[in-house]
Amino acid sequence: PAPSPSGSGEEGAAGRPLLAEVVVDIAAPDVDRVFHFLIPPALEGRLEVGHRVIVPFGPRRVEGTVVGFTGRAEVPPERLRPVAALQDPVPVLTPALIELARWMEDRYLCLFVQALRAMLPPGARGDRVRLAPRVWVRLTLDPAQAREQAAALARRAPRQAAVLERLAELGPHGAVPQATLLQAAGASPGALKALARKGWIALEEREPALEEPAAAAEPPAPPPPLTPEQEAVWRRLEAVLVAGSSAAGPAGGRVPPGQQGLAGEPFPAGQAASAGSGVAPHGTAGGRPPAAFLLHGVTGSGKTEIYLRAIAAVLAQGQGAICLVPEIALTPQTVARFRARFGNRVAVLHSAMTPAQRLATWRAIRAGRKPVVVGARSAVFAPLPNLGLIVVDEEHETSYKQEETPRYHAREVALARARLEGAAVILGSATPSVETYHRALEGELGLLELAQRVGRRPLPEVEIVDLRQEFEAGHRSLFSRRLLELMRERLAAREQVLLFLNRRGYHTVLLCRECGFVLRCPHCDVSLTVHQLPSGRLVCRCHYCDHRQVPPATCPHCGGVAVHPFGLGTQKVEETARKLFPGARIQRMDADVTARRGSHEAIYRQFAAGRIDVLIGTQMIAKGWDVPGVTLVGVVSADTALHMPDFRRQERTFQLLEQVAGRAGRGPRAGRVVIQTYSPDHPCLQAVARHDYRALFDLEVAERRELGFPPFGHLIRAVVAGPERPPVERAATRLALAWRQAVDDAGVRAGTVTPAAPAPIERLRGRWRWHVLARAADGAALRAATRTALERLRGAWPRDVQVQVDVDP
Ligand code: ADP
Ligand code: ZN
Repeated sequence: PAPSPSGSGEEGAAGRPLLAEVVVDIAAPDVDRVFHFLIPPALEGRLEVGHRVIVPFGPRRVEGTVVGFTGRAEVPPERLRPVAALQDPVPVLTPALIELARWMEDRYLCLFVQALRAMLPPGARGDRVRLAPRVWVRLTLDPAQAREQAAALARRAPRQAAVLERLAELGPHGAVPQATLLQAAGASPGALKALARKGWIALEEREPALEEPAAAAEPPAPPPPLTPEQEAVWRRLEAVLVAGSSAAGPAGGRVPPGQQGLAGEPFPAGQAASAGSGVAPHGTAGGRPPAAFLLHGVTGSGKTEIYLRAIAAVLAQGQGAICLVPEIALTPQTVARFRARFGNRVAVLHSAMTPAQRLATWRAIRAGRKPVVVGARSAVFAPLPNLGLIVVDEEHETSYKQEETPRYHAREVALARARLEGAAVILGSATPSVETYHRALEGELGLLELAQRVGRRPLPEVEIVDLRQEFEAGHRSLFSRRLLELMRERLAAREQVLLFLNRRGYHTVLLCRECGFVLRCPHCDVSLTVHQLPSGRLVCRCHYCDHRQVPPATCPHCGGVAVHPFGLGTQKVEETARKLFPGARIQRMDADVTARRGSHEAIYRQFAAGRIDVLIGTQMIAKGWDVPGVTLVGVVSADTALHMPDFRRQERTFQLLEQVAGRAGRGPRAGRVVIQTYSPDHPCLQAVARHDYRALFDLEVAERRELGFPPFGHLIRAVVAGPERPPVERAATRLALAWRQAVDDAGVRAGTVTPAAPAPIERLRGRWRWHVLARAADGAALRAATRTALERLRGAWPRDVQVQVDVDP
């Protein structure tokens, strides 16, 4: 990045000194703006956009972020105060990221400072983590001169001589940490100072070394030749990614920032100007190919290989790339593939890192030392100085949505960021979100398809088993007769089996068979889940607040004694499987088992090595795994997924089941999938049985068009929460009225606001929750009206009551 303007030596526009524009780190609407500060002489020429600073704020000193410079003060000069201190040697954010925070503020109706906070690595704020810079000693003489001087000094100043000799051993420009040198040469800091005064050595502050992974033992794996299908996809990508590529037409190559008009809405006026001009609403501005793509490829079709090629192409041009993966997919396997190709140019950001590791990695990325970043959601903010590409793998994954303020979606942020920085985007999925596929059909995204698995391996055959028939036939096991038969067959052939359940203990509630009473959490209004302790005793737990209680012996409602656990949990399935297959090696993997750090990885390794025959698990076994020994996948019950209270439930069920099915038959033997259900005719399951994404998409689109759901309309949800019910209800009601008024005032097209209602989970962690939903055809207009409504109500909120806004919930 260009060095920043700075210092009082330079002059602002009208001959006034240049001022730093700082956003203070206080999340309050009335201070969510830029404040101006003088740049003290000590920071002259050092301050850059993105730096963390300490500034005086009223009687306090607070942290803040430098977001720009100006010559025009908003307050009289005598009231200007100087920046108090600089927090970081290197800014943690880039100018482009600050621009992106502006976009997020508008898009997600959050505070600017909240958007900035989302971008900072943990550890960058406050003084929880300090990476003390280490002092290094560097030789400025050439080694021969150093030896001469050492000989001359040997008598008079033996310690200085020893230092020079040590450094000379390191060759030209040799450097070592000061602490190491002092110890090795038996020298004192005084000796170093004396040498530095003579100009023979330099003392430099350096970032503490990152914990670098050991350099790959093997040379980087050469990429395999592409399959014909991959080749066709790659040619289209190359035309956009590689400047001057032969495949690029006259208008080919990358489009300058702001000129692309990728998916989504244009930037609000005023911000588009700084990102360039002429943001087109659709992807084909001026006949150029769009620089954002949907790569729709069935599981195992070689999408990852395409990402690796694209990243390599970007690196070859001196640019960097981010590859987003769902957290759960950050398996050693994924990471290993990136490291095998790009060695230690790869930075991996994952949730198990300590704040210090994260901060150190962030800085290495910012300094350009790690041009390939692989990570989950928040890696979309990785401060690469020269970004060329963002890949979003499994773009449909729900984990890309952040469920706390700012409630952003990493896929949308990726598209916006790429547009700001002139980078390309690849969204990859076997089961794209309906919104993304719709954009591709509309031409906002280039559509790339891989319809076949690599090596022409067939997709697994899917059988749907009707559990109603099992019941009629008097077969009461968790495993249908067909599933049992196939399990026996596959285990006999020494092949591996995956058994999948929608969620851990999902259905295991404590139920009274006499009156139907279900035991619920006293704080959260959800049913408690029954778990079995290793001792065999049962405990009821809330999955939201972790409330625990011993199951009552009699029904609290009717006093009956027939209260029993009911439903399926992974534990129950494990127990049953052990009884049915006593000789098999059976392992369960769910959130309970993997709560211990590293056990997810350990189980995966065992399974991949063939030391587990039957693995029983939840979502976490569905994604990204590539274990060739798996030839059978059993979905114990598809019904829970089909009955979620969510307008995306069909899409989600399809995605989940395709994902699970994709684990079967990745090796030489064909895979098979058995789905057990009480709704065998459900069109969504039928689509899974045929691996027919388009059938699912058409089904969804028809319904959503009718109802005005995304992608045909925009939704905003507001949740009002507080410790007492009546004020929450009153506040929610007032919000609904003000919101409707604002929508009407602005004449928002097809704008509707629901009356206030209790949220699906009315009590959560001891708080009452009500919600209001607004819907409109025009997202920007709806957001503007929402802002108006919230501003009108600001200050009128009862104490203790908060409102949280979720755009595109
Ligand atoms: P996806 O990401 O679509 O699931 P992958 O990229 O993981 O697919 O590819 C599936 C398997 O095929 C992997 O084991 C991968 O190494 C292999 N593969 C991918 N492309 C090729 C190719 N062109 N030649 C040989 N093997 C390939
Ligand atoms: Zn609870």
